[in-house]
Amino acid sequence: MSETIENCTHNCSTCGESCASRTSPQSLLKEHHPEATVRHVYGIVSGKGGVGKSMVTSQLAVLMRRRGYTVGIMDADVTGPSIPQAFGIHEKAIGTDDALLPCVSESGIQVISINVLLDDETDPVIWRGPVIGGVVQQFWTDVIWDVDYLFVDMPPGTGDVSLNVFQQIPLDGIVVVTSPQDLVSMVVEKAVKMAEKMGVPIVGLVENMSYVPCPDCGKKIFLFGEGKAEEAARRHGLALLAQMPIDPALTKLVDEGRIEEMRSEALSPVADVLEGAKE
Ligand code: ADP
Repeated sequence: MSETIENCTHNCSTCGESCASRTSPQSLLKEHHPEATVRHVYGIVSGKGGVGKSMVTSQLAVLMRRRGYTVGIMDADVTGPSIPQAFGIHEKAIGTDDALLPCVSESGIQVISINVLLDDETDPVIWRGPVIGGVVQQFWTDVIWDVDYLFVDMPPGTGDVSLNVFQQIPLDGIVVVTSPQDLVSMVVEKAVKMAEKMGVPIVGLVENMSYVPCPDCGKKIFLFGEGKAEEAARRHGLALLAQMPIDPALTKLVDEGRIEEMRSEALSPVADVLEGAKE
């Protein structure tokens, strides 16, 4: 005999009751703050750290802001936060009784990061996974975002903090960032498979540090070989949306907190897709 619960909504994914009639697992997705407005959420992921995930997140935010959208960045890379630095944000976020207000960059991009919460932004975060996971969850549930597009700079790799983000934040899709060397290893494949298992659509692949433009003739020098990114994208059935060169001007802008002044249009094809995906 199947046991039924009073007030059954017949929506097992949002129900927390233990019930013999359950037909699907409970969803772990969390609601954002009741006063927040978030129209689209995209995660920026990479197989490992240092491939330019934060660079891609920052540039996408800048491009979408220039197109007239309201934009936010959630820096979920809690142990390696680099978003506030890129945007020259050194002040602290303001908290109310039950909410947190994001910091706002010069061009109006809303930013939340562990670095705008710590007393000293040079303090290392030496917390264990569950604590970090709790902080990232609060970046979603407790922050009063007011954005058309929220970009989540995900923790690198496929560890438990990434898993939390996938489970708790209703991502519209992810952009996978890779370096040329990464393509030959299995780290990209693992990130792609994680998204597939979590049922999150993959917008496409961005290869960062693909080539160096010759300073004299502009010819593209592919230090790690040409054509590998296309091949990897094909193998995973993904669109290769952009290939970004190594550009010392970009490193300088990040170091000086002036990424909003960047002139690169390398990620415009990604911005086009995100803009086209909105209803
Ligand atoms: P991740 O977020 O994947 O750890 P970052 O975006 O922080 O990586 O990039 C690592 C470093 O490389 C940073 O100093 C960043 O400014 C620099 N960088 C990233 N992409 C480029 C690029 N295309 N050209 C020049 N420097 C870059």
